Formats: sequence, structure tokens, C-alpha cells
Amino acid sequence: MVLMLLSVFMVGWFIPETARIPVSGATAADWHPQSFWHYPWGRSGTHKGIDIFAAKGTAALAATDGLVISTGFDSLGGNYVLLLGAKWRFHYYAHLQSIDTSSGDWLKAGSVLGKVGDSGNAQGKPPHLHYQIQTIFPQWAQYQAHQPQAWKKLFYINPNQFLTQRKAS
Ligand SMILES: [Zn+2]
Repeated sequence: MVLMLLSVFMVGWFIPETARIPVSGATAADWHPQSFWHYPWGRSGTHKGIDIFAAKGTAALAATDGLVISTGFDSLGGNYVLLLGAKWRFHYYAHLQSIDTSSGDWLKAGSVLGKVGDSGNAQGKPPHLHYQIQTIFPQWAQYQAHQPQAWKKLFYINPNQFLTQRKAS
């Protein structure tokens, strides 16, 4: 058990950090650049990711290399995939129509992990991929006390910055 945890921990450091837009054929015009931490945002309070709009059934892709650590369904995210990428960042893909990967799979950036849909609380809304990135290391630079859920924001990466600063394609 300890050895397993240790090896998972090591994996977090050695996964190369790559980035690509996690929807087939999408460009930065397919999400709103300001939608990260938009407030108010339904039951979540703030919007912890970005929504990449695409036709239902479009391939959802891994944004980075990484290890699939969980897949399943929850009432907010619908069908989701959670992937551990470089720097101990957790990449969360939600509202999928279908999941085309499973826990334990190693995905390269650009690998198909599911199809864009409107599952979970996106039902009745235009199909989109909710993409969010969590980190276990606080991002002190983005602390702004006046913001809603400011302390929580320390543990999220802005996917808009993540994808555009790296000139993802
Ligand atoms: Zn969203």
C-alpha cells in the first residue's frame, strides 16, 4: 500500500506537462475566457473551470499526459473522468455523453477519453465539456481576498491560462 502510494506520488512529478485543447477541433473561441471563477454559479457558488462548447458526441481529449484515476457519474458533473497529470494536477472532464477510458489507463495528450455531452447538471443546456484543473499546491499568486471562495481558488488552475499560455492546439 505504502509502495503504491509512493509510486503514485512519484508519477505526479515525472509526468511531462503538455497541454492541448481537450475537445477535438475546438479553438479558444469555443469557451469564454472569463468563465473561470465566475460568480454566482449555481450550486457550486463559483465556476471552477471553463466550458468548451461543441456538438454532442464530439471527441473529448486528454489535455495532458496522465493517469486516469477515476471515472463515473455524479449529479453535478454527470459522466466524468479524473486524470492525474504533471505537477500533481488533477484534470476533471465533466458532462460527458459517454466515457471511453477507465481507471488505470495511461493517456497521452490528445487521446480520446469520452464524448462531449450534457450529462449531470448540464442537462437542457448546450452540450459542452466542463474542464477544470485542481492542484494540491496552493497558488498564492492568485489569492484575492475580496473574491468569493478566495481560499478555495488557491487550489485551482485557470484552464483558460493553462491552455492559452502554452499555445495549445
Ligand atoms: Zn462548467
